[in-house]
Amino acid sequence: MAPTYQTCGACGAVQYFQRPFCATCGAEDLAEAQAEGRGEIAAATLLHRAPSREMADRVPYEIVLVDLPEGFRVMAHGPGGCVPGQAVILSEDADGLLRATKTEGRA
Ligand SMILES: [Zn+2]
Repeated sequence: MAPTYQTCGACGAVQYFQRPFCATCGAEDLAEAQAEGRGEIAAATLLHRAPSREMADRVPYEIVLVDLPEGFRVMAHGPGGCVPGQAVILSEDADGLLRATKTEGRA
């Protein structure tokens, strides 16, 4: 499933992290929306040291920042070898992690 986000009915701002109010104008007139799931890599880094015991068997793994055309940025696990500008599709895997998969073309 692609990420969900909130849009503000008062000012039109978009926010990824769910809040009871708009982080831009403070209004509480928020609507939830579902992103299409396409995006473009803004940055990528390869982690060799796990931040927790639960992640130890996953290293090395790639963390990416993905810009979505809906107007927000998310952090996700990458497939490896991502570079800025790479088009990706976002989905949630069985462990509930947001995962980016490389795709052809533009976001
Ligand atoms: Zn607002």
